Formats: sequence, C-alpha cells, structure tokens
Amino acid sequence: MAKIHQCGCDICRTKSDPETVQQHHQMNLFLSRLSEPQRRWYVGLQSQKANSPSDRELAKITGLDEKTIRRGREELGSELVDLPPDRQRREGAGRPRSEKRTQS
Ligand SMILES: [Zn+2]
Repeated sequence: MAKIHQCGCDICRTKSDPETVQQHHQMNLFLSRLSEPQRRWYVGLQSQKANSPSDRELAKITGLDEKTIRRGREELGSELVDLPPDRQRREGAGRPRSEKRTQS
C-alpha cells in the first residue's frame, strides 16, 4: 500500500507554480516508496540544503511531523549510530525470527 501524500503548501493549494507542484508531487511519490526511517532521513537531508524550505514547510509538503523531520536530521547527524543497517532490513516484513538452531 503506497499512499501518496498530497502536498498542503500554499503553492500546491493554489497551484500557482506548476513546476513546484510537480516537484512536491514527485517528492511525495518518492517518499511513498520509502520505509519510515528512510522517509525522515530523506526529509532531514532536504532540510539541510541551502535554500531549503523550513521544517514547517517541509512538514506541510511531506506530511511528516516537524518533530519527525528534526529527528531524522539528528539521526543523520549522529551517523545513525542507534540504527545499524541490519535492523532495517525487511522493513514491514515482520521481525526476523531469532536464530534457533536445532542441534542434532
Ligand atoms: Zn507543495
């Protein structure tokens, strides 16, 4: 299930700039295919770019909380230490079974 967030920024609401509307749509399209942590890291990354929208604007655009965006940025800033790669494998596929080796 990939629901695409509808951007709620002023430009998209009034459709005043088709290029921006398209950009925001594509961003949300992209985000719809990412896992939860990937979403906040991507937006956290965007938020650090020069001329990037404020967190508040990004929240409107992406539907993520400002808090979530800040968290993504902080996690990136700390090298994702609390989120080792092997913990994100198989997002949404349920927890991997703990290793149970039958000894026989
Ligand atoms: Zn927008």
